[in-house]
Amino acid sequence: MTTGLQYIAHNAHDVTVGDKRILFHIPTTSLFDLDGVSGQVLDLFKEKGTVSQADVEARFRDKISPDLIKEVIEDFLEMDIIKGDGPARADYNKIKIENYPLSTIILNVNTGCNLGCTYCYKEDLTTPAKGELMGFDVAKKSIDLLLKEGKSRDRVNVVFFGGEPLSNMPLIKSAVAYAEKRCAEEGKKVDFSVTTNATLLTEDIIDFMNDHRFGIAISMDGPKAVHDKNRKTIGGKGTYDVVSKKARMLLERYTARPVGARVTLTAGVTNVVDIHQHLKYDLGFAEVGFAPVTSGDMTMFNLSNDELHEVFENMKKLGEHYLSEALEGRNNGFSNMHQMMTDLYEGTKKALPCGAGIGLLAVDHEGELNLCHRFTGSDIETYGNVDTGIKKKELGAFLEGRADRDGTWCDTCRIRNLCSGGCYHESYATYDDITKPTYHYCDLMRDWIDFGIGVYTKILHKNPSYFEQHVSPRTLLNTNRTFNPLDMGK
Ligand code: SF4
Ligand code: SF4
Repeated sequence: MTTGLQYIAHNAHDVTVGDKRILFHIPTTSLFDLDGVSGQVLDLFKEKGTVSQADVEARFRDKISPDLIKEVIEDFLEMDIIKGDGPARADYNKIKIENYPLSTIILNVNTGCNLGCTYCYKEDLTTPAKGELMGFDVAKKSIDLLLKEGKSRDRVNVVFFGGEPLSNMPLIKSAVAYAEKRCAEEGKKVDFSVTTNATLLTEDIIDFMNDHRFGIAISMDGPKAVHDKNRKTIGGKGTYDVVSKKARMLLERYTARPVGARVTLTAGVTNVVDIHQHLKYDLGFAEVGFAPVTSGDMTMFNLSNDELHEVFENMKKLGEHYLSEALEGRNNGFSNMHQMMTDLYEGTKKALPCGAGIGLLAVDHEGELNLCHRFTGSDIETYGNVDTGIKKKELGAFLEGRADRDGTWCDTCRIRNLCSGGCYHESYATYDDITKPTYHYCDLMRDWIDFGIGVYTKILHKNPSYFEQHVSPRTLLNTNRTFNPLDMGK
């Protein structure tokens, strides 16, 4: 070490959890206990930026054995936390996308919905009478496309979305039969999922979904007063009574898989603890996921900045409850938190925020291919259709552009490999530009991850078997694997 070693600040982040120091190794999304010596060496680099042999000797001579220091420095070099001469090894730089290994196709089976929720974002939403129904021909071609582009996958997913998907049950039934037949021919497994407002559920529909092991998510916003605030009939009446009745019927009758609730948080609604309590413990949903609305054309529904802070503070309170339950070996079903635990446990490292466009595409009733379910009916260009296939050149250019972090704040952000610039639809709704990262709540996201690192570390130290018991591949609506806690379904 003659000229000195440089600290690469954007590859290391240390977090204090109780009396421990934890090193978050950003390039690999890994967490390490920082022992006393490693911590002191790290502090030296953080303090000086560039550290020479003389600096090391001045700091540690006669205090710590040189061999121990050498070992730590070698580890840090190996981890790219420090570097000698020459450029640092890049973690994600420019990527070239040549394959589009689809695993999931989302079918927008009806643009119409039987409800009139005040905040609904769907650009193509109409009343049921005017709804554009997907025909079987489009569904069939979508499934063929999924199998063609998903050749390398053992397992594929077909997701039914709307509007209200249950308003086109005949299509769902024939699409399921066709997908099962074609997947059996190809030797693949197929999973089905649906997100529904629950109002059209019947015992027959539940039994059908049970037979085909659907992943089911119900859009429900909480106790009556909260739910009825926005989730209304077309005539303007609250829908809590009917939705909770149908949800109870579903939860009692449905046995194939756990059922989740999907909560949309809008202006004035920040109490995630009470909402979770009601949906998880009063009604019995296995999982409850929260989607705070921060951007959208209908600005009156967006959470204000203060409210968004309040939501994150309340999410932390619920996260503390997640922790206390996890220490007892139970999952409290707070799915935003559980997703983060999964990402930390699996060392998730993403070049792109989610599977939209690469593992997942959404098909509208005309057979056009959209980045994901939130884009159907928007004025964003589509990326091909089920007849002519994926416009790979255009799609590749968009995705490669988003993965290229040069010149963006994401380049050196400590959560870049989890957030990866955020949801494309959030960018579209906020900036009218899908190529721009979602910069409007970065600090909150980083703070949320720090909180998660604390929870993860405590579980790991006190009840490590929790992860083996509860963190496994997701079984609920698996339309994408996005870290973004603000990813909003419908
Ligand atoms: S969008 Fe913000 S939080 Fe996300 S990676 Fe980029 S800079 Fe970080
Ligand atoms: S994160 Fe955004 S872009 Fe990605 S699938 Fe979800 S809604 Fe679509």
